[in-house]
Amino acid sequence: DEVDYRADNQYAGALKKKNEAVSEFAKSKTMKEQREYLPVFSVREELMTVIRDNKIVVIVGETGSGKTTQLTQYLLEDGYAKDGMIGCTQPRRVAAVSVAKRVSEELGCELGKQVGYSIRFEDCTSKEETKIKYMTDGVLLRESLLDAELNQYSAIVMDEAHERSLNTDVLFGILRKVAQKRRDIKIIITSATMNAERFSEFFGRVPTFTIPGRTFPVQQYFAKTIQDDYVDGAVKQALTIHLQNGPGDILIFMTGQEDIEATCFLIADRITKLENVPPILVLPIYSQLPSDIQAKIFEPSEHRKCIVATNIAETSLTLDGVKFVIDTGLCKLKVYNPKIGMDALQITPISQANANQRAGRAGRTGPGVCYRIYTDTVFRNELLENNIPEIQRTNLANVVLLLKSLNVDNLLEFDFMDPPPQDNILNSMYQLWILGALDNTGNLTEMGRKMVEFPLDPPLSKMLIMSEKFGCSQEMLTIVSMLSVPSIFFRPKGREQESDAAREKFYVPESDHLTYLHVYDQWKMHNYDQEWATKHFIHGKALKKVREVRSQLLDIMKTLKMDLNSSSGTDWDVVRKAICSGYFHNAAKIKGIGEYVNLRTGIPCVLHPASAIYGLGFTPDYVVYHELVMTSKEYMQCVTSVDPHWLAELGPMFFSVKQAYGNSMMKRDIEKEGVREMEREMQAEIVRRQTEQRM
Ligand code: ADP
Ligand code: MG
Repeated sequence: DEVDYRADNQYAGALKKKNEAVSEFAKSKTMKEQREYLPVFSVREELMTVIRDNKIVVIVGETGSGKTTQLTQYLLEDGYAKDGMIGCTQPRRVAAVSVAKRVSEELGCELGKQVGYSIRFEDCTSKEETKIKYMTDGVLLRESLLDAELNQYSAIVMDEAHERSLNTDVLFGILRKVAQKRRDIKIIITSATMNAERFSEFFGRVPTFTIPGRTFPVQQYFAKTIQDDYVDGAVKQALTIHLQNGPGDILIFMTGQEDIEATCFLIADRITKLENVPPILVLPIYSQLPSDIQAKIFEPSEHRKCIVATNIAETSLTLDGVKFVIDTGLCKLKVYNPKIGMDALQITPISQANANQRAGRAGRTGPGVCYRIYTDTVFRNELLENNIPEIQRTNLANVVLLLKSLNVDNLLEFDFMDPPPQDNILNSMYQLWILGALDNTGNLTEMGRKMVEFPLDPPLSKMLIMSEKFGCSQEMLTIVSMLSVPSIFFRPKGREQESDAAREKFYVPESDHLTYLHVYDQWKMHNYDQEWATKHFIHGKALKKVREVRSQLLDIMKTLKMDLNSSSGTDWDVVRKAICSGYFHNAAKIKGIGEYVNLRTGIPCVLHPASAIYGLGFTPDYVVYHELVMTSKEYMQCVTSVDPHWLAELGPMFFSVKQAYGNSMMKRDIEKEGVREMEREMQAEIVRRQTEQRM
């Protein structure tokens, strides 16, 4: 029996699949009825007239009014797919997949044929047949690299525009150009009921069509005192609702995977310890959850459902039957701090607009209740009115690379709806410069051109490209692919020790990256066997995904005529050196047991308790890390020990080696070059050149 993604069996006790022996006919009929019940259906004719008469239209409607699932179908039914596809972008992968699946069902066709989806590393469309294509905004952005006018598409729906995801914001600028060049395209921007006027204005005062809402009142309660533990607070609230209320599903907004899993476990656990309590179906939903498990949130259930979600359930996925919302007031965001030049995942308070969206989820099908785990005062005084668009708070390195290769030379002049702070652009350019992707004048280098080809973050592309020179591209392909999927190892409740022991057997003590490589190689040696993976507490499905990603990256390498070479499993140093070439800006120096400071910024950070590095028996003087995760402390995630000489060799703009005692066998130390001055000079140079270009 398979121990796989936890949700599969952990909550299995509560999962009772109803045997729905519904005939095809009856099913399609209810589908049709469901479609016709949606608010957008009642205004279909007016809406399609506005679309016919205008190239660009903004459509606003409450979550659940049918924008995402219906618009593409209306366009198809009205003949807009005759000379091209109808594309629909989503900021989130989960939504792209789930909605494509739903629409293929509504149209009664197989997913991947007439209706398909495309997300990074996963293309489920058919060249000949696909008419409706759901995709992430990142995928469409990449497609614009190959075809700047997006000629494959006759219509593009930019969905969830209110989310203001980084890629959507960049696409706005690109689509505005496309609209100027192409007469035969329809562009539809859809938004929940926030910020819609901004979109209309940006695209040149285009018409805005509002779908009349059908919402019910939601009663709202705040916590009386500030709670220290929001997971515990939410769990208690969920149990109270379950014990004291009649039917209606519960939706809990949590921060991310870890908190969601803990919440699900605690609810299920406490319910089983109570007597005479009706069963409850506890379901997690977050972006990295495999799609078959995600689909369970939409399945009908005879018991109360309690869905524990990230902010994906705010607007991207519409859940019917939710009557109670529990809002922690938090979400997990990637936040870029331009002062230190780093991205970090951070648990952050949501905005008031998000909080209202969350509450609204309780009033879709009838009156509802929203319980907030934070106080009224916090809501009024500490939450921002609106959330800050991603473009203003994340690392723009990838965007800069993409735009540079689209020949947008002067980023400070690109059509951004809300231009990112100049600091962010400059810092991202600076990061690309230190990686060798931009030259001193801010133009793409050979390295930069190669990097654009890979759908990876710049440091990962750099590692892969450098590994060819170091003679270990086979190994690096695996490592980079392993970093592109979430959690390889699983740690089921109650079997922690057993799974930790299994994990430790794979440890390569110098490096978490090499540990990943080792896991993959072992799996390969066992003929890519899923059972082998499960037995070793490894997600078989995740490894399968790694294998797919690897083969796609391999194809790109082949197209670029890059050498496939291998250090043949004996020389790990070259692999570590190649890792260092992409991550020398994330270098840290030891300060205490397991405690480090970032070499550039002096910010303290610690090894993650699950790091293989602890297997060395001592902690190495210098390490580089993949990313920093801020929770109670700043944890370095995925760490490799490095030789300080490599840092000096690969990141000469930052580091030089100082021979402290004149004896290289003795303590070596590394000196910071005038990094800050360097940064400032480089930025001044970029500003000077950009201004020159403008004049
Ligand atoms: P909007 O985009 O306006 O928020 P949607 O088109 O997403 O609205 O949702 C319309 C309806 O389709 C909702 O009632 C929702 O429950 C249903 N729906 C959407 N996705 C799925 C799915 N994957 N499975 C079942 N029903 C779905
Ligand atoms: Mg939608």
